[in-house]
Amino acid sequence: MSLQSGIKKNTMTKVKFTLRHTGYCTANRAHTLRGVPNQTIRFYATIGIIRHPEHGVIVFDTGYSNRFFEATRQYPMKLYAQITKVFHQDGEDITSVLKREGIEIDEVRYVLISHFHGDHTCGLRDFRNAQFIAPKRAWNDVRGKQGIAALIKGYLSATIPDDFRDHLRLIDFEHPTEVDSILGPMVDVFSDGSIRLMELDGHACGQMGALLNTQPDPTFLIADAAWLEENYTQLHLPAPLTRLIFSSWKAFVQSLQKVHAYHLAHPEVQIIPCHCEKTLRKQSPELFHD
Ligand SMILES: [Zn+2]
Repeated sequence: MSLQSGIKKNTMTKVKFTLRHTGYCTANRAHTLRGVPNQTIRFYATIGIIRHPEHGVIVFDTGYSNRFFEATRQYPMKLYAQITKVFHQDGEDITSVLKREGIEIDEVRYVLISHFHGDHTCGLRDFRNAQFIAPKRAWNDVRGKQGIAALIKGYLSATIPDDFRDHLRLIDFEHPTEVDSILGPMVDVFSDGSIRLMELDGHACGQMGALLNTQPDPTFLIADAAWLEENYTQLHLPAPLTRLIFSSWKAFVQSLQKVHAYHLAHPEVQIIPCHCEKTLRKQSPELFHD
């Protein structure tokens, strides 16, 4: 309970990390950073691919797939697709993305779900042999919701596998395995220091991030705790309008402050906001040819 991140550094299991995407939606830069000019930008729906020496391939979030279009064909969910213009092509789904990395989808044994917004869950039904690992608060916030109640949460229940609950491990941050001085309670997924999860609440109820023991420095997947690099490097908040889609603005600001403080204390750590094009280009320049 009292261990701080870093103390066990040399005995922790190392993992490898690759960042890929499953398409994108468009957004207004002025919404993501208050006070900047209007500009249409891409919000990539990224997926993290983690290679663990004993547990094999683990993925972090599952992005878009054609199921997004199926799940949003009728009202009220159609409003989701009308508000968010999604660009997703054949071959960009998680099964195809993993295949290009030499990974068969059925090899994947663990899927980490940061939160239950549709742009993170469309690939879930592709997995047949995986355990799903999700934050308890986030699941309790959306489970059973349909229609308008689901729409308000950005939750596409049609993207959730029928037997999801049978393969679900819920993470309860009220019972942490350690506490980081900045990030607070953390849960060590495999009790080997390779992947540690923490709550980054506010964007969605109970959203979680993951701190990976990559080499030479750790990688910190912060999901939607920030949309763009500038949010956490400069503590530059999104436009007030975006409060409407957050579960709690106050919690969102607190989470962003934690990520900002972590960045200042650990400038060597690679921080990955899941939709930031600049971050994706830095992590995976091979995906871009322009
Ligand atoms: Zn989200």
